[in-house]
Amino acid sequence: MTDMLSINNPADGTTITEVRADDAASVAAKAARARAAQPAWAARPLAERRAAIVRFREGIVTELESLARTLTSEVGKPIAQSRNELNGFLGRIDFFLGAVEMSTASEEVFADASIRERIGHDPLGVVANISAWNYPYFVGGNVFVPALLTGNAVLYKPSEFATLTGLHIDRLLHAAGVPQDVFITLVGGGAVGAALVEQRVDGVFFTGSAATGARIAAVVGPRMIRLQLELGGKDPTYVADDVDAKAAAESLADGAMYNTGQSCCSVERIYVHEKVHDEFVQAFVATVAGLKVGDPGDDATYIGAITRPAQIGVLEAQVKDAIAKGATLRAGGRRIERRGTWFEPTVLTGVSHDMLLMREESFGPIIGIQKVAGDEEALRLMNDTRYGLTAGVYTKDEARAVRLLARVDAGSVYWNCCDRVSPRLPWSGHGDSGVGVTLSTYGIQAFTRPKAWHLRQP
Ligand code: NAD
Repeated sequence: MTDMLSINNPADGTTITEVRADDAASVAAKAARARAAQPAWAARPLAERRAAIVRFREGIVTELESLARTLTSEVGKPIAQSRNELNGFLGRIDFFLGAVEMSTASEEVFADASIRERIGHDPLGVVANISAWNYPYFVGGNVFVPALLTGNAVLYKPSEFATLTGLHIDRLLHAAGVPQDVFITLVGGGAVGAALVEQRVDGVFFTGSAATGARIAAVVGPRMIRLQLELGGKDPTYVADDVDAKAAAESLADGAMYNTGQSCCSVERIYVHEKVHDEFVQAFVATVAGLKVGDPGDDATYIGAITRPAQIGVLEAQVKDAIAKGATLRAGGRRIERRGTWFEPTVLTGVSHDMLLMREESFGPIIGIQKVAGDEEALRLMNDTRYGLTAGVYTKDEARAVRLLARVDAGSVYWNCCDRVSPRLPWSGHGDSGVGVTLSTYGIQAFTRPKAWHLRQP
């Protein structure tokens, strides 16, 4: 482990600052502090924990513009999209504040003359929150907000690519009244995350790649503690023959390219009915040509930088492999030669499942569009994946969409929409997209363990 972590701006390759990183000894000391502090936090009335999160929300509102600027500087996200994330985060906080009581109130489920039965919800204890960088407020907050509300202490490890944002979250939570030892931030990369999962914690909540998730599962599995893994996706959409092809293309170009394609629920594969394929592709390419690539600090920018420099090689390899196997490049296809890490919005047609592009997560502004003969072929291809995060169908016919989506193996399904997350609905994946649930009432109860009470009067 290194002592200092360099924070870089992917849009221009400059170093913003350096921050002191944790090491194995400091991780262990922080875990011990959280363990000691958790019971008193859990003993506080829910109203006090809620009041702290309300003040945290106020802090976010007050600093929203500067928090958005910080996020843009360290991940290269277009500023308008950083503001969108922060505003969306406020909505998620509101959901958790509103739903925590009904999700975790103890419930009497049976009573007769001799016995009463009650279900209670105890906090897990100390939880590890290991986060990705692509939506740090969303993916971090899906864990630490409900975890704190339900009486847990949180050991929070933001991504090394979103450290400054993580440190702002830390500062604002403490300023809002969450005790220093109840929410503790660990700074550093994978080695710090690995040291964290070695600690005696009661739950590990991870958001990141399937490869890291599998590594964590191998370490945590034998310890019989709560483990949730929110991993990647290769999310498919089928465009049926009865759609307005232009409207579908505009919606799906947004779903594929928003956040520069660096979303777990980005549209990553598109299957188009042969009757509307050519019209759809033309409209899709025209829409992509209109997306402004450039300075993430500019309000009009839509495509920003690639956050992790190593991802450029993944994108180049997928494009090269697809073209070698017969795909046609309709737009983009190359890294952009400017300071920082950039990739052109890229569209490939004539693709197939022999290609990496249609099998492996791209996590960038590139998309494959495949022609299909009808619904059954589309369904077979949509399910031909190790992942199972989201999937969508565009058609005028709701019954047709429902018939297809009922047979798709994915945690979230969309009719005529995509790349959408709602705090009111459970967020979960199958297969290599992970295990466990965040958001919704399930994603609050995930931070508790049910306790069965059998109460007999003497
Ligand atoms: P990553 O797996 O590289 O890193 C995620 C986190 O794990 C980081 O904080 C990292 O420091 C830490 N880490 C790395 N090695 C570790 C180890 N051995 N032990 C413990 N922690 C370790 O992923 P990333 O690049 O930050 O995020 C991108 C991935 O996240 C994509 O695959 C994306 O689809 C996925 N993602 C999923 C969701 C979801 O809700 N399903 C949401 C956002 C992102």
